[in-house]
Amino acid sequence: MDVEIITIGDEIITGHTVDTNSAFIGRQLTGLGFNVKYKTSVGDAIEMMEEAFQLALKRSQLVIATGGLGPTEDDATKKAIVKVFKRNLIFHEDILEDLKARFKERGVEMPAINQNQALLPQGANFFPNKTGSAVGICITEHGRIFISLPGVPAEMQQILTDSVIPYLKGLKTGRALSVVKLRTTGIFESQIAELIEPGLKLEPGVRLAYLPAYSGVDLRVLAAADNEAEAGEKAQKLVRYLESTVGKYIFGREDDSLESVVGQLLLDNDKTLAVAESCTGGQLGMTVTSVPGASKYFLGGLIAYDNEIKIEQLGVEREIIEQHGAVSEPCAAAMALGCRKLFDADFALSITGIAGPEGGSAEKPVGTVYIGLASAHANRARLFKLGLKREIIRTRAVYAAMEMLRQEILDIK
Ligand code: ATP
Ligand code: MG
Repeated sequence: MDVEIITIGDEIITGHTVDTNSAFIGRQLTGLGFNVKYKTSVGDAIEMMEEAFQLALKRSQLVIATGGLGPTEDDATKKAIVKVFKRNLIFHEDILEDLKARFKERGVEMPAINQNQALLPQGANFFPNKTGSAVGICITEHGRIFISLPGVPAEMQQILTDSVIPYLKGLKTGRALSVVKLRTTGIFESQIAELIEPGLKLEPGVRLAYLPAYSGVDLRVLAAADNEAEAGEKAQKLVRYLESTVGKYIFGREDDSLESVVGQLLLDNDKTLAVAESCTGGQLGMTVTSVPGASKYFLGGLIAYDNEIKIEQLGVEREIIEQHGAVSEPCAAAMALGCRKLFDADFALSITGIAGPEGGSAEKPVGTVYIGLASAHANRARLFKLGLKREIIRTRAVYAAMEMLRQEILDIK
């Protein structure tokens, strides 16, 4: 099914609000196997909306719009819908009662202006809004589906997740779909393709997509068949092939994050972690602790930016820094060793590198990062070349460090 997403609002086309709604909807629907073909943004003027709706309904079977459903005069989406579908507005008593009750809960009388939010185009279905006042609207006509959602991202997301997606999943598309996302890290998109492509045979109805990010590359398997069991089996066949070729880079599936996977491994093995960070300035600690419950395995970290801190707090020998520099394999290894001791942790990770834009040299260009690891059995460090841009280098370093720990715990060679 071809999909078009339309975001509405003057603030979006002028750039005062960044359009995150279409990104969210695009990701969600693509994950479900829908073919998102167009994204359009229009201002608040009714005529422009009409034009956009009409064009979208011509070229796409499913149209999802966000914005302009509020009670005020500048919110004109419903007026445009009425014109395009040539339907009257019908009053819904149940919507009004619900709205009034919600205002009462907060101890305020409902403003009269909100009454018009109980008006919906004739024959439209609605999706409840748990946090705001505008319900989502759904109209089906001539085999087309038109859905209009509020613009406030939290409201849009709630309605999409709770109502729209279940509704779309329930549609009889004639084909069953199975989607699996495998998450990899520590390998570039082109390298992973080199491993996968030679032996790859895609059955009809099966697709493989590479979705690269700085933290890793996701592999999305999408299989379509006449029934669910067949679609599932087709998808699993490709998943097994991917596991056999690039399995050691796969850290999780679907919504797993590397930090949650590593956290779970530490928890399962009853181990603790501490970190010593130079060029990432705390980002590794921040990422590790973004997982709820991280206090069960994360002891703490030291931002050892200055060389004297590396020497005094982590016990890195002055000679190591004088001979090899702070960005070096021996320094990273010594930082991890010292950190493990300082925090009395089972595992310690260290990061030292050149994040730029200054500080690079011919021998150690910007992007040179050493990551160290210390455990009861090991103390080593590894060189990574992580690109040219400061933010990207730091993010990649954080994920490379967590991946090094994952490999250590799972004994991946
Ligand atoms: P309200 O009842 O709040 O008026 P609405 O459905 O009329 O809801 P809009 O007025 O279009 O929605 O947008 C409300 C706010 O939501 C905007 O000020 C903007 O901050 C945010 N918003 C709207 N559209 C988007 C979008 N596409 N991406 C991100 N944020 C958006
Ligand atoms: Mg509004």
